Amino acid sequence: MNPSIIVPAVEVDPAGMSRHVVIIGAGVIGAMSAIHALRDGHRVTILEPETPGGEQASSYGNAGWLSSHSVIPPSQPGVWKKVPGYLLDPLGPLAIRWGYLPQALPWLLRYLAEGATKERVTRTARALRTLLVESPVLHRAVAEQAGVAHLIVHEGVLHVYPSRADFDAEALNWSVRREVGVRWQELSAAELHQREPALDERYTFGVFVAEAGHCRDPGAYVAALVAHACALGATLVQGQATGFRIEAGRLRAVRTAGSEIACEAAVIAAGGRSKALAAAAGDRVALEVERGYHVMIAQPEGAPRTPMMAADCKAVATLTEGGLRLAGQVEIAAFDAAPDWRRADILRDQLLRMFPALPRELAASRVRYWLGRRPSTPDGLPCIGPARACRDIIHAYGHGHVGMVAAARTGRLVGQLLSGRTPEIPLEPFDPRRFG
Ligand SMILES: Cc1cc2nc3c(=O)[nH]c(=O)nc-3n(C[C@H](O)[C@H](O)[C@H](O)COP(=O)(O)OP(=O)(O)OC[C@H]3O[C@@H](n4cnc5c(N)ncnc54)[C@H](O)[C@@H]3O)c2cc1C
Repeated sequence: MNPSIIVPAVEVDPAGMSRHVVIIGAGVIGAMSAIHALRDGHRVTILEPETPGGEQASSYGNAGWLSSHSVIPPSQPGVWKKVPGYLLDPLGPLAIRWGYLPQALPWLLRYLAEGATKERVTRTARALRTLLVESPVLHRAVAEQAGVAHLIVHEGVLHVYPSRADFDAEALNWSVRREVGVRWQELSAAELHQREPALDERYTFGVFVAEAGHCRDPGAYVAALVAHACALGATLVQGQATGFRIEAGRLRAVRTAGSEIACEAAVIAAGGRSKALAAAAGDRVALEVERGYHVMIAQPEGAPRTPMMAADCKAVATLTEGGLRLAGQVEIAAFDAAPDWRRADILRDQLLRMFPALPRELAASRVRYWLGRRPSTPDGLPCIGPARACRDIIHAYGHGHVGMVAAARTGRLVGQLLSGRTPEIPLEPFDPRRFG
């Protein structure tokens, strides 16, 4: 990144309410937060060590689903019974690296407990719904202002199942979705294949969720949002936050390696790297990374018309601007542990099975793999709210599997918190202090 990409124009709010806000991290959450802070008249610095929208960020390589119905947490009743199998099978849908188990264990136990009963899953779903509802519309509005409306498509998403029985096996999830207001259309095999002629015949049942949408290129979208923030007056600084200078309970500066940026407010939006910054702001948060992978095939011979989640591999296939992407897998391992590209091989093989027109022998130049890190809490809910030690510091991370879709409302909430307005939804479920 060019460290001199700096747009210094700063509007000071005439009422004196404008603060200098440092947004830590230029993933989708930081980018949206910056835009809303700017709209409220704050002076904004975005602090990011790498290229906004670059491959280091989870926001780069996700499936792009803007699924306002994704309210079911990853941990569900009965999942705990499968954990021994996950530990023994490094290539299963959820893998835990043995060496990392002692460190991840407290998080993992809480993760399993949070999904242990239908009541708990429903509680999480109700809270998530408030954050996600209408988000494709909110994304679209921001994308239009940023000049990238073409990247946001609001035409629904599909879930595809080998059989109706496989759908019925997920009855609990769908009944909770119905309870929180999600509606869908069920598709027979004929209806599904009429909509999706490239899809393999072994999928015989589909669910179409019209309210959802998708992003055609998440990395480009984030880059465009940050460029829009800069056009609105934000300053982009290349650097890494290491902590805060807090005096008498008020924020004076964000510390960086060997320096500091004087400011009156800050937003922690460093994704999977947010835990240490949260601790520096006085909060012990239960944050781990659920690592995931994607495979991309350029110029695919067969592809979905509508992005689809395949129930048998729990991965989402999306036709992006750069090619056909299948994103999924959960791997509990250290943030910086080496990628296990066998997991991306699994995704590639699944993609070939989903779309038979793709050639079995693919030139290496057409295939790309990526490893990403979902910033995840054990209860499947993000941390959004002020820090314990200093209300000038706002937490905005931990969105796990739904950070892309949740970013639109999270940015609005951050703007409301920074300006002292009443948040548009109750923030108690997302309180960063809930981990004790
Ligand atoms: C395989 C996969 C598929 C997914 N699919 C979807 C999907 O379809 N829909 C959906 O809604 N979500 C999806 N997600 C989840 C989503 O990608 C994340 O929840 C979301 O991108 C998190 O955004 P973020 O801005 O919090 O973090 P990130 O995108 O990771 O950005 C954090 C930024 O902070 C920077 N940073 C780190 N440390 C510091 C520091 N000390 N100082 C300054 N900056 C720092 C990083 O360089 C990075 O740019 C998926 C994730 C994966 C891995």
